[in-house]
Amino acid sequence: MHKKLFIPGPTEVAPEVLESLGGPMIGHRSKAASDLQRSISDMLRTVFCTEQEILLSTSSGSGLMEGAVRSCTAKKAAMFSVGAFGDRWYKMATANGVPADIFKSELGQATTPEMVDQALATGQYDLVAITHNETATGIMNPVEDIAEVMKKYPDVVWCVDAVSSAGGSKIETDKLGIDVLITSTQKALAVPPGMAACTISQKAYDRTSQVQNRGLYFDFKELYDTVKSKDYQYPSTPSLPLMYALDCQLKRMMAEGMDARYARHIEMAEFMRAWAKEYFALFPNDQYLSNTLTVINNTRDIDISGLNKALGERGMQLGNGYGSLKNLTFRIAHMGELTMSDMREITSAIEEILDL
Ligand SMILES: *Cc1c(COP(=O)(O)O)cnc(C)c1O
Repeated sequence: MHKKLFIPGPTEVAPEVLESLGGPMIGHRSKAASDLQRSISDMLRTVFCTEQEILLSTSSGSGLMEGAVRSCTAKKAAMFSVGAFGDRWYKMATANGVPADIFKSELGQATTPEMVDQALATGQYDLVAITHNETATGIMNPVEDIAEVMKKYPDVVWCVDAVSSAGGSKIETDKLGIDVLITSTQKALAVPPGMAACTISQKAYDRTSQVQNRGLYFDFKELYDTVKSKDYQYPSTPSLPLMYALDCQLKRMMAEGMDARYARHIEMAEFMRAWAKEYFALFPNDQYLSNTLTVINNTRDIDISGLNKALGERGMQLGNGYGSLKNLTFRIAHMGELTMSDMREITSAIEEILDL
């Protein structure tokens, strides 16, 4: 039996998107490949609220995160972490020999505009990376407020990990002045795992020329130059089946309408928060709650693996806590293709199983 996924990625994929994976191969240097990749980039511009260029990558989101840090840091990077995925920004820098400092918030708290201002005021940094939606703690960082601070530092390249939010929660990339906004296919975009996409601003692109060792596969300059000079083609062979699936899903998203899609996510988020408060408690600071997943404090000390096993018998799966929060919290994603009726289905099942 298929278990409906309430984990924060991979998420449920629509049957027609799954079918599109099986299309016949085309040459990756053909006009058909250019047309496909241009179509995807155009629709992603709508999703990301940007007019900038889009880079597609046959890797999960981590590939583009690593590429961004390595390609766009000439001096030193300031990494803001509110949990496991923010810590990864810092690890990516150090693993690539990129000078970086990490600024951590307590688990369940946000990155504040003051923290960013204080770090950038030192003049040491030329790249800032933050997490938009921390999938480990359920925090959605206040990017609108952070954007006000970033405007004071026009030479700093701003990278945002929106892996678990873009496509499910509105992010106005250009209006906020974000230089590189990154997401993966398998979360709110609701496409199978294996590809990632990001925006790249002129500022981020210009920075790449000042960096000598950008690596090769994730070199943002090489990716951008190839997209521009070869009509949306890529230096290496991309995953064409995933391109078909992404194109198919983005068309479905355009048909739903992005505003309707965001409203659906907010409705699910509000339902799940209210439920969590009634039976348990919310883990993160409730001023900064994620629209795409709810992280619930395990105040009843329930056996989360046991709960998941019982849910599995009913064809559902939720997420245990991440890393150090395992068993102390559990996570219910409300992203991608899930609907209000799915929210009601999983919460009633949990109430029944736990006899709440
Ligand atoms: C899942 C996730 C990642 C890692 O993405 P991959 O596609 O698995 O490389 C990074 N950041 C956040 C916030 C995530 O949720």
